[in-house]
Parts: sequence; structure tokens; C-alpha cells
Amino acid sequence: MWSLDEVLTVAARKYGAKEALVTANRRVTFAELDAAVTRFAHHLRAQGVKPGDKVAVFGRNSISWAVGFLATLRLGGVTVPLNHKLAPPELAFIVGHSESRIVLADADLAASVPASTRETSRVLLLGGDDTLDGVTLFGGDAPAPLPRVASSGDVAEILYTSGTTGLPKGCLHSHANVLFAGMASSLAYGLDSTDRVLLAMPVWHSFPLNNLLLGSLYVGATVVMMPEYHPLEMLETIQRERCTLFFGAPVAFLLPLRTVPDFERYDLTSVRTWLYGGGPIDADTSRLLAKRYRTERFFQIFGMTETGPTGTLLRPEEQVAKAGSIGRYGVSGCDVKVMRDPTTEAKPGEVGEIWMRCQSMMLGYYRDPEATAAAFHDGWYRTGDVARIDEDGYLFIVDRIKDMIITGGENVYSKEVEDALASHPDLAESAVIGIPHKDWGETVAAILVLKKGATFDEASFQAHCESRLARYKSPRIYHVVESLPRTPSGKVIKVELRKKYAARA
Ligand code: ATP
Ligand code: MG
Repeated sequence: MWSLDEVLTVAARKYGAKEALVTANRRVTFAELDAAVTRFAHHLRAQGVKPGDKVAVFGRNSISWAVGFLATLRLGGVTVPLNHKLAPPELAFIVGHSESRIVLADADLAASVPASTRETSRVLLLGGDDTLDGVTLFGGDAPAPLPRVASSGDVAEILYTSGTTGLPKGCLHSHANVLFAGMASSLAYGLDSTDRVLLAMPVWHSFPLNNLLLGSLYVGATVVMMPEYHPLEMLETIQRERCTLFFGAPVAFLLPLRTVPDFERYDLTSVRTWLYGGGPIDADTSRLLAKRYRTERFFQIFGMTETGPTGTLLRPEEQVAKAGSIGRYGVSGCDVKVMRDPTTEAKPGEVGEIWMRCQSMMLGYYRDPEATAAAFHDGWYRTGDVARIDEDGYLFIVDRIKDMIITGGENVYSKEVEDALASHPDLAESAVIGIPHKDWGETVAAILVLKKGATFDEASFQAHCESRLARYKSPRIYHVVESLPRTPSGKVIKVELRKKYAARA
């Protein structure tokens, strides 16, 4: 298989004058991108970057982000894409753990790189769409070619998980893994050279990076980049650039409907593929989106950083009948099974842990052989996600194993309780956790954020839950808070809540 560096060279030869990257400020062809990558690779090499060295990238979506990433690969280096919303201690942890010698950072974010990190790593400034550490990326003489050093089995990326269930873990992905993830996109929903992909979600997440940015390089599609998601800009950009593919979390589809008053005025007919992931939508939302977006071409994707993030797919024709499901099979090159216990597969109607094998699977967790050994069983990756299989074989996520509550010997899925709470008129959002209990092992506790102006009435919440859930599933303890602790990618950190409220119990 080719290295990602070779993919770029091939794309420049095949699609030379075609647009590779487009932003509001700049339009770059495949040939220009290839030259800019070589230009900056010379600069990085002069900074002492050698094959195998780690280079972290800390910024919003931009052309210089992509160039910095690809230039590192051109030198045989390893990229470490960072969440641009990381707080200084989180950033210090990942840069330190990944042993990144260089951090390429957006100018306004560079200030948040802590002094301790600067002692071991040099910070170079990403320059939006035009420059990188002062190097002018486009125009000027053709740079001298560099020898190809990376091969397909080398590590290309260390992608850190969101840190929802503990410290973020660094997933090692080879060039071949990443390339496979991009190929899976083509196979699953037909990404090809006629596509114009809108990259509105952060490029440091595995799907936007591997499937959208690098997958597009592989097939010769154009990537239109927005620095950050914004509902109105999303509509304007799709219309202006005639985008054909959009990916976002479910809320990225709902926000334009809620916040853009003349939504109907935007011409979105160029989009042939709408992809959402990170969470399901229900049947009503699915119907609403089909009506307002005037298309049924919605796909849901399920996966995780470890798998690159290949996984399952819920197809357009399944959206309403199987709403809330993540689909039935793994995409091509990915196999999925649900295990009741480590030796028995779950049958329809049963619940178990999702196990996965796929060709974009990480090589392991960086500097963590114990976590790597614990994550695999006979070559299958244990996802830690629990799913129920329906009578037709479709998978429905019920919880994460670590968030499941065992009370009096009964399993309670936190998500089921949160779903029941969601329809209470006073509730804005909730997180349900297990708290140690001397008789039952654990007891169900609900941490609530109320709607503005609402006052807490415990009896009303109790009645609401008990009319919808078995008694043992209904929360016994309630706490009202101003807001829930979240990871930089927006997921609720239940470990933190468990620690806090277990101490109070
Ligand atoms: P950590 O592994 O550090 O605790 P994390 O698992 O949240 O963090 P990611 O790899 O970013 O880190 O997220 C993958 C997880 O997101 C999956 O394991 C699953 O729990 C959830 N997820 C992803 N896609 C979907 C989806 N379509 N529906 C429901 N849940 C999803
Ligand atoms: Mg995880």
C-alpha cells in the first residue's frame, strides 16, 4: 500500500490543476498543495525534524493546518492532531505523553501552551491559509523535491481519544490504516473525484481527518474548509461552493433549522450525501430533517478513534424504520459482533458489548501496553459500548460499559434513564450515574440541569420516571447543578460526576 505522502504526490500528478482545498480566503490546487507541503517540509527539516519525530498540530481548520500535517508525513514524521479547545493542562499532558518536539499552533492559541511544554517542545505558528512559521506557502520558485521516506506500515498519526472515560489514550495509526479508512468512505457512500466535501467539523477528529481530508486526497475530491462550524456559514458555504457532502453531529443539522430564519431560501440541492455521527437521531427528527432538507440521503456513522473511526452505517432507507439504530453490519473491511460475555455472542433481543475487527484498526495505544492488551481479545477490539440487537439484527447503543449501573444485581443503562428524564418539562439536560450503596452495590443518581426559571420539584421527577421506568431504574438521588462537566468535544465526563457525588453519599 502507498504511504499518505505518496498519495499526495500521485494526486498532484493526476489532478494537478484541480482544486484540492478551498477556504473563504484561498483556493489551492493539488499541485500547489504538493509544492507547499514540500516547501514547509524543508523548513521543518531545517528545524531538526527527522523520521519518527512527533509534530503536534493545535489549531482550527485551515490550509496551514493541512500543510503542516502533510509536511510532517513527507519527512517520515508522526503527526499528533490536537483538539483546539484543550485547556493548558490537557494540552501539556498530550504533548508530553506523545513526546511531540514541535507544536504547530494557531497564533491566538499559542499563548495557552504552558511554559512546562515550551521547555520540551518548540511552538511554531500556523498562519491561517497562507503562511506557516513565516514560510510563504504559495507562489515563488518550485521547491527542490525531497526523497520519499515514509512507507505504508509506518505510524502516521497518534490520535488521542476524547477522554470521556479516563485520561485520553493515544491511538497509533499507520499510513495503511488511515488510507483504508478513506477507502471505506468511498465504498460506503461513494466519495469520489466529483465530490466537494464541506469540512465544518474539527479536522483533528478522526472522521473529518481520515475520511474527509485524507480520503478526499486519495480520490481527488475537493475539500471546502470552514475554520469552525457555524450554522449560517454552513448554509452559505454549501450554496456558494456547491458542496456535495456534509458531515456533522446531529445538532449541526438542527441548529440551522432553529437559528436561520430564512433557511428555505438557501439552495442545498448540490448535496448528495449528508452524514451524521457521534449520536443517533430519533424517527421524528429523521422525518423532520428529510422534510426540511428536502432529501432522504442521510447516513449515520458509528465508530471511534481506535478504529480509525471505521464502524457501522445506518443507510438512508433505514433512517425512519430503524431510527436510533447504528445499523446492522460493519462497513466493508470492518466486522462487528455483540458479545453477551467473552465467549457467547448475543442473539436478537439480547444486549452485549460491541466488538470490532477492521482494517483501519489502531496498532495500539502509544506508551500503554497494558491498556492495549486489555482492549483486544483474540484480535477483536472491545469497544466498551453496549448495544441491544433487535429482531432484524440492527444494533441500538444502550450505554458504555463504564456508565452502566448495577443495582441489586440488575443492570441499568444510564442512557435509558436519561431518555426517560428528557421529556420532563422542567429539564434542560441530565446525566445519570451509579453511586456506591452498601446494600444494592450501586444506586441510581440523576444530576439535573433545569430550564431557566424552573424550580426543582423532586416528587414530580419521581412520578415522571416511575411512570416510564421500572422502579429499580428510577433515580433514588437527585442533584441539581448549573452545568455538566464536559470533555473538549462536548461529552459529559461521568467519571468526574461519580467521584464528586460518591464522596457526598
Ligand atoms: P475515551 O475513549 O477517551 O473515553 P471517547 O470514547 O468518547 O473517549 P471517541 O473515540 O472520540 O472518544 O468517541 C467514540 C465513542 O463515541 C464511541 O465509543 C461511542 O460511545 C460514541 N459514539 C460514536 N458514534 C456514535 C453514534 N453514531 N451513536 C452513539 N454513540 C456514538
Ligand atoms: Mg473510547
